[in-house]
Amino acid sequence: MRAVCWHGKHDVRVDEVADPQIVSMGDVIVKVALTCICGSDLHLYNGYVPTMKKGDIMGHEFVGEIIEVGSGVKRFHVGDRVIVPFPISCGVCWYCKHELWSLCDNSNPNSWMLEHLYGDTGGGIFGYSHMYGGFSGGQAEYVRVPFADVGLEKIPDGIPYEQVVLLTDIFPTGYQAADNCNINPGDTVAVWGCGPVGLMAMMSARHLGAERVIGIDRFPDRLQMAHSQCRAEVLNYEEVDVAEALQNMTGGRGPDSCIDAVGLEAVGTGIEGIYDSVKQTLRLENDRASALRQLTKACRKGGTLSIVGVYSGFIDKFPMGAIFAKGLTLHAGQAHVHKYLPHLVKLVAEQQLNPSSIITHRLPLEQAPGAYKTFLNKQDSCIKIVLNPQESARTARPGIEEAGAV
Ligand code: NAD
Ligand code: ZN
Repeated sequence: MRAVCWHGKHDVRVDEVADPQIVSMGDVIVKVALTCICGSDLHLYNGYVPTMKKGDIMGHEFVGEIIEVGSGVKRFHVGDRVIVPFPISCGVCWYCKHELWSLCDNSNPNSWMLEHLYGDTGGGIFGYSHMYGGFSGGQAEYVRVPFADVGLEKIPDGIPYEQVVLLTDIFPTGYQAADNCNINPGDTVAVWGCGPVGLMAMMSARHLGAERVIGIDRFPDRLQMAHSQCRAEVLNYEEVDVAEALQNMTGGRGPDSCIDAVGLEAVGTGIEGIYDSVKQTLRLENDRASALRQLTKACRKGGTLSIVGVYSGFIDKFPMGAIFAKGLTLHAGQAHVHKYLPHLVKLVAEQQLNPSSIITHRLPLEQAPGAYKTFLNKQDSCIKIVLNPQESARTARPGIEEAGAV
């Protein structure tokens, strides 16, 4: 089959690889109909996530049709159209039983790696390095999906794949980010990062009752999307002092909740931006904390920091004093997609929310190498790219740089 494989920093290729096989009785094989490139894939692409190996298949956001089932699978049959959550969960451990699905104790065969780094393991994730289990990803024609009975969600008849493909990750992730803010009527929620995850967080915050949503980024197209799709007020952090602007917008108090949808590759401004870039390049810190510092400074006393941007290790100049003095509550982590899926499928089926409105590019899988570059550099007004592995190499259009958005 054809699959997008990691070969090193800024080097992904569409290779011919072996088809996946059923390995365990709870597995199914999914023929991928659509798959996306995620901001989390950029951390692999930019070489920030250790334990990647040449030839690893990328991708953790995919939907498709079941073409083979293991002997122990009860809930699914060949021909079912399914949404596949990006975290892999066993369904029986303490964490799964407590709806902390992405923290599953059993699904990561390389648990010792995360235990060594962080003191405990996280669950496996499709296409996301060997420390997250070394599972082959979904930017491919076919994928082996373990624990199928636990994770998969059937796509209701009549709903096209494109309407639900963002439910594999970024919609539940944004929804969890907003849910963790425990939004009360009248609340203001500020969201750093107007990429796909930030947009989903803003859409969800509105849906959960926030009176005001404020999006922060530096790309005009993304700020425009936040305004048009999520009814957000917007701030360009290259043009204003964000903490000061937020104070002014909220009567001097600050937002009730602040969501970090940026993560470890935050681009800072001025001396601080240079400082973080140099320290990260020299491996003196793993993650750049410029957005995180702003969240902490801007949030109102007693407010909530909800962190869904991915952080990987140690950061410098983290304002723990402000978190303590202002009595802030901090939530973080990979999304517990399984927890939210049934509800979010219903919201989409009833047309209450339309997450796929942020998809800007639809391309054949063969164009993945160019698509990664476009998404990384935020070129061509790119916000979310969907790849189709079933559109054959022969019908692939010219390179994305020339072809642009479809
Ligand atoms: P993206 O790269 O498209 O978007 C990130 C946005 O942040 C960009 O628009 C960028 O301009 C903006 N940004 C950079 N520095 C900033 C700053 N200092 N202040 C404000 N904005 C800034 O990526 P995405 O797909 O939207 O993903 C965002 C983050 O969420 C990534 O770290 C990704 O790994 C993470 N993520 C987490 C989960 C989870 O389960 N927790 C799931 C999916 C993605
Ligand atoms: Zn993702």
